[in-house]
Amino acid sequence: MVTTTSKCVQISRNGGTEVLELVTRDVGQPGAGEILLRHHAVGLNFIDVYQRSGLYALPLPLQLGMEGAGVVEAVGDGVTHLQTGDRVAYASNPPGSYCERRVMPATHVCKLPDSISFDTGAAMMLKGLTVQYLLKQCLPAEGLQAGDFVLFHAAAGGVGLIACQWAKALGLQLIATAGSDEKCQLALANGASHAINYRTEDFAAKVKAITGGQGVKVVYDSVGKDTWEGSIASLRRFGLMVSFGNASGPVPPLSLAALAPKGLYVTRPSVFVYAHSRSATQAMADDLFNVVSSGKVNIHIAQRYALEQVRTAHEALEARQTTGSTILTV
Ligand code: NDP
Repeated sequence: MVTTTSKCVQISRNGGTEVLELVTRDVGQPGAGEILLRHHAVGLNFIDVYQRSGLYALPLPLQLGMEGAGVVEAVGDGVTHLQTGDRVAYASNPPGSYCERRVMPATHVCKLPDSISFDTGAAMMLKGLTVQYLLKQCLPAEGLQAGDFVLFHAAAGGVGLIACQWAKALGLQLIATAGSDEKCQLALANGASHAINYRTEDFAAKVKAITGGQGVKVVYDSVGKDTWEGSIASLRRFGLMVSFGNASGPVPPLSLAALAPKGLYVTRPSVFVYAHSRSATQAMADDLFNVVSSGKVNIHIAQRYALEQVRTAHEALEARQTTGSTILTV
């Protein structure tokens, strides 16, 4: 009989890292369409901070975490693509990956190729599927072509380092921004064509200079409040603004008239709008597995914490002390 008790990290109220508490519970057996999964590693993401703080309000109590990798221990009725013993990884909504074991819907869970470790799987699924849709699905009307300039903020972070490498593999010229000179060097070493320290330099002015006054075709902005105006100024005529996060706070209310001088486009996507079904998720995951297996994209796990150290992990992420991906080991 498979054990079903698990250490889990949950919150009963929104707030700072003090609201993260470790509890032990019985997770039960999988129902129809569900699996019981034993994690080997869990991915940390900035969205976990939004959900903990309440910026993204979800019903409480809440078990955090949207990314993980491990082994299937039991399969419920109707699950046809997974079997007991399969090595798997996932990005999933609703959250709940901060634990040893969980029962979860099988829809977003994918078999992990043998060449990819559990740690790498846990560090790349939410972040890598995000880069997949950002670079390949969420495009300006005429698409992105090799040689095009794009601007990518927070480029030394988890999503950012994957984007630098994947953009290079596609022949794009990715202008990176990051919050220190060391982070800028990291982005350059991972394939960015240019890097700007946006805490010390006017990034919009530098983007203009780099692009010969034209501006970039797409801005990928997950920083939000602090970068919004500079991002709009960095776009070329008919450029696309992709606002996909708010690490510095929510974007202020948008005046549509501000888009008129350059005829700009704006989108505010979420990974699960693209990974909306089993087949869409698998297609995106296959693309990610291929680019990682080929060696064109390396997943940098720069921080590892035990599940019990989750408060320290959140503090480091919020304080901009991390680079690349962070995992919790279980
Ligand atoms: P990161 O590892 O990129 O960490 C966030 C980074 O944001 C920090 O390291 C920091 O880099 C930068 N940042 C800028 N301003 C602040 C601030 N005031 N406080 C804290 N950090 C700041 O995180 P992830 O890789 O997990 O996620 C990156 C972004 O992508 C997040 O905003 C996340 O919400 C978003 N996202 C969106 C998805 C979607 O589909 N919409 C899916 C997945 C992620 P620096 O010091 O270089 O400025």
